[in-house]
Amino acid sequence: MIRKLKEGRDPSAVAADQATVRATVEGIIADVRARGDVAVRELSIRFDKWDRKDFRLTDAEIRACLAELSEQNLSDIRFAQEQVRNFAQHQREALRDIEIETLPGVVLGHKNIPVQSVGCYVPGGKYPLLASAHMSVITAKVAGVPRIFTAAPPYEGRPAAAIVAAQHLAGADEIYCLGGVQAVAAMALGTQSIQSVAMLVGPGNAFVAEAKRQLYGQVGIDLFAGPTETLVIADDSVDAELCATDLLGQAEHGPNSPAVLLTNSEALAKATIAEVERLLNILPTAVVARRAWEDYGQVILCSTEDEMVGEANRIASEHVQVMTRDPDIFLERMTNYGALFLGPRTNVAYGDKVIGTNHTLPTAGAARYTGGLWVGKFLKTVTYQRVLTDEASAMIGEYCSRLCILEGFAGHAEQANVRVRRYGGRNVPY
Ligand code: NAD
Repeated sequence: MIRKLKEGRDPSAVAADQATVRATVEGIIADVRARGDVAVRELSIRFDKWDRKDFRLTDAEIRACLAELSEQNLSDIRFAQEQVRNFAQHQREALRDIEIETLPGVVLGHKNIPVQSVGCYVPGGKYPLLASAHMSVITAKVAGVPRIFTAAPPYEGRPAAAIVAAQHLAGADEIYCLGGVQAVAAMALGTQSIQSVAMLVGPGNAFVAEAKRQLYGQVGIDLFAGPTETLVIADDSVDAELCATDLLGQAEHGPNSPAVLLTNSEALAKATIAEVERLLNILPTAVVARRAWEDYGQVILCSTEDEMVGEANRIASEHVQVMTRDPDIFLERMTNYGALFLGPRTNVAYGDKVIGTNHTLPTAGAARYTGGLWVGKFLKTVTYQRVLTDEASAMIGEYCSRLCILEGFAGHAEQANVRVRRYGGRNVPY
């Protein structure tokens, strides 16, 4: 039996809040499309109180940002970037081009070609989320993308030094200090001063995620990666402090960040609710985390492991932290999630910041149909074919002609038949 000990809005309700966001984003994109740089500048002043003639940072500005950081800061960023690069390189190696002879004389192949230009959005409205720079820029580099732009909003009225350092150390070709929909639209559509890209990637708030959705088609996008959400699955092998800490660690992302506890222990459920309240009294970011917890926080009690797996798949959360006696059961049986964190020794913050898996992950139910950002998202898997012998062409051609006639395609049938006649097969009359 499934019981809710704390009700909250369902994570999918975050997407339902979209009507007003959608209208705002439509207006901004139309404005950037019509007026280019002039609109970008006005919008940046309006939403971010940030004005420049040219939003691209100069080499001197980038150097100044690097100089603001301590050696420890820089070496921490480098360490995180090495982990992301290392895992991405292994993932890249697992993606092989193939060429095989499927029938005598018939050769089919596919190869992976990198997208030629990408715009990587790095969120920075509420926090300077430098980790998103590694996640997008380094992964694109490993995939072999030759032109990588990156944009992040100003933080406290100026470029965020840590974000700029991460963008630069990751290897971005051009760095823009520009936020929100205007940044995403400028990179997708191009303006007088910003060249357009073929693909947009990176997480962001509801406005940024919606902008990517609306621009999809004109440019490629990685996935729908909006406001963060987390699901903690726990049994009585762990304590309430771990569960509450892991819930609030993600709730602090924003007031619309769902945090859900799924457990088969009523005692743990009740203790976690109490522990969340205790931590909210001391967490420096409690103002945001409390709103997220009160509106979207849920505690769901299940009787069996089957129910827990079913609920977890229904919720399809971006992050799933599993702290049960046998976490591998969830690795084996879960089908809908962005990233799994198995066992109490790891947690979502490790993945978000440093361990090496990508933190740009599907939200608002998108985990039902996609995984997160990875090197494969930057590659176009394209196919090719060759027919090596006359016999193979005539044999495939006869099948092809008959199938084209079945569909009523006379022109297609003749494309096949002309070869059937030349290469020694029997013409298939239309
Ligand atoms: P952000 O950079 O995404 O958004 C800030 C920008 O939003 C501003 O520059 C401004 O231009 C624009 N904006 C703000 N209010 C607006 C309004 N009313 N109308 C139009 N534009 C407006 O930074 P953020 O706000 O801090 O959000 C970061 C988000 O990224 C969080 O929701 C976080 O949960 C999410 N995130 C998601 C993932 C993922 O993989 N899904 C990973 C990391 C972060």
